[in-house]
Amino acid sequence: MLTVAEASERILAEIRPLGIEAIPLRQALGRVCAEDIAATVTMPPWSNSSMDGYAVRSADITPVMSGEPVKLRVVETVAAGDFASRPLKRGEAMRIMTGAPVPEGADSVIRKEDTDGGSAKVEIREARDVWKNIRPAGEDYQRGEVLAKRGDPIKPALIGVLASSGVAKVKAFKRPRVAIISSGDELVDVDDFDEVVAQRKIISSNSYTLAALTRVAGGLPVDLGIAADTKASLRRKLERAGGCNLILTSAGVSVGDLDHTRDVFAALGGKQRFWKVNMRPGAPLAFGMLNDVPWVGVSGNPVSAMVSFELFVRPALRKMQGYVALFRRTVTVTLEEEVKIGAKLKHFLRARVTRSEDGSLVARLTGHQSSGALTSMAKANALLIVPETSPKVAKGSQLKALMLDQSLEETSVLSI
Ligand code: AMP
Ligand code: MG
Repeated sequence: MLTVAEASERILAEIRPLGIEAIPLRQALGRVCAEDIAATVTMPPWSNSSMDGYAVRSADITPVMSGEPVKLRVVETVAAGDFASRPLKRGEAMRIMTGAPVPEGADSVIRKEDTDGGSAKVEIREARDVWKNIRPAGEDYQRGEVLAKRGDPIKPALIGVLASSGVAKVKAFKRPRVAIISSGDELVDVDDFDEVVAQRKIISSNSYTLAALTRVAGGLPVDLGIAADTKASLRRKLERAGGCNLILTSAGVSVGDLDHTRDVFAALGGKQRFWKVNMRPGAPLAFGMLNDVPWVGVSGNPVSAMVSFELFVRPALRKMQGYVALFRRTVTVTLEEEVKIGAKLKHFLRARVTRSEDGSLVARLTGHQSSGALTSMAKANALLIVPETSPKVAKGSQLKALMLDQSLEETSVLSI
């Protein structure tokens, strides 16, 4: 049986970043930049005022430094979007608004509050702004400077930076299309909830969780529905997965009489690369390639399917999208309760990690750890990692936990 790390390495060895497409900048959030982008302009393009006030020459206001107010002639008003009609001369001031170009000859902007606010003449009463309140041209970036590199995740600020340099379209790695196939004669979709009420069937919750996980990982789920537990039905579903970048099947990869997924995959020409990983939940994981398209077959148990996705599918989808950081971070946590594991497998227990008052991280299990108990997964924000060599870990001990979301970074109390 492979370790989790070996299985992950084997899968990722088969994954390549997808092709590149040019997309409108407004749609680029969450994508990864596929090209280096250099600035086509200098930003800001001209030196401009960072205050509403008066553009002046420092030489004219030296008396103010020794406490003596001066009066200057106001010759013009420069609003943001305007340009002064001429340079500023000795003894003159120009009213100026935030963002407006600083006229040639001016080297200081005196904030309005330090003047009498006059419009024909202005009295300057305070000199703390000498040489100040001017944002020089190119303060943010210079023309030719690299604003984004291939591999940079596109975040809101970067979108703003690129917009400021006139980038209307950006080349980004494509998002992977993930074919999601559930299988099992016991399964129906919510349309057939009557069958559930009648206690004949259960809902294919994996169809929902795996699609949601795909979206969170930046992929595009293509739900191919539920296959029956027959080879013909599974075959029909797998044949419809063409055009997708990854095939994700759930269930039918264990050792049951009706677990046909691996056989059908092989009959279609698929090459299985490995089966089974040393982990719980999710040990019966299968991986292979079908006509160059990677296939991950996860166990049907709702929690196993999710845990396997987190460990193996998410990093693969990120690699396809050009991300360099493929993995979620693990953190060291102190147990608030004793934990025990049964089988000699590496365990991933559903847990809630929180920050205690002294800043350290503590963890508590979220409930029943059966691989079918999805509610404890819904309450969890982390998977507590218990090595197979530790059947019992005492309260107060430390373990690693794999964070599943950003909840540690968020709080209901403003902490600034
Ligand atoms: P299997 O992997 O086929 O042995 O299924 C393992 C368990 O997961 C069984 O209890 C199934 O009923 C359940 N299961 C399989 N597929 C799904 C699904 N799509 N949604 C919810 N439960 C499932
Ligand atoms: Mg089954």
